[in-house]
Amino acid sequence: METIDRGLFVPDGNSAYIDSPMPIGYNATISAPHMHGTCLELLKEHLQPGMHALDVGSGTGYLTACFAMMVGLQGRAVGVEHIPELVASSIENVKRSAASSLLNGGSLSLHVADGRQGWPEQAPYDAIHVGAAAEKIPQPLLDQLKPGGRMVIPVGSFFQDLQVVDKKLDGSISIRSETSVRYVPLTSRAAQLQGF
Ligand code: SAH
Repeated sequence: METIDRGLFVPDGNSAYIDSPMPIGYNATISAPHMHGTCLELLKEHLQPGMHALDVGSGTGYLTACFAMMVGLQGRAVGVEHIPELVASSIENVKRSAASSLLNGGSLSLHVADGRQGWPEQAPYDAIHVGAAAEKIPQPLLDQLKPGGRMVIPVGSFFQDLQVVDKKLDGSISIRSETSVRYVPLTSRAAQLQGF
């Protein structure tokens, strides 16, 4: 997080370092730094050099860039976001950041897609992060998690738990709740843009 300057990813650069979520347009927010830190801590064993990571609801691209720095040129960090304008600006943000060479080298990529379907092209993933709250864990994301891999996903509607999902080597799943959280919903583009 020290390597990737949050000021390059936040619309109002002046408030970038306040420990608070901030609006980024399109009824979306960039998560607070402490949430980014919590998720990176929970996933760090699964973000080792050469590993594959998926960031669903990549928004500003901040966390995808952090993933890319951790997995390096031999790894893959894939961001999936369903608002095309956010994907376009996230690519510009990354280009200005310390992760720009990873974008050019192809180990970091950002795509417009419905993240509930994951991103099968680079699956299976050692680490999956979901940055928006799901009513229930989407099956494609479970399917795209590598045996031995970990997913961190907020689950719920108004009251949400940050769930840590571990897929064991035999393919069985264990889930625990880390903490209570408040994320924007993982939903359709039309539902998200209502009233915007
Ligand atoms: N983690 C990011 C953004 C968090 S906000 C950051 O910190 O910058 C959650 C993001 O999820 C929003 O950008 C929203 O547009 C996106 N989102 C919501 N539902 C989605 C879906 N079905 N597919 C892809 N992205 C989605």
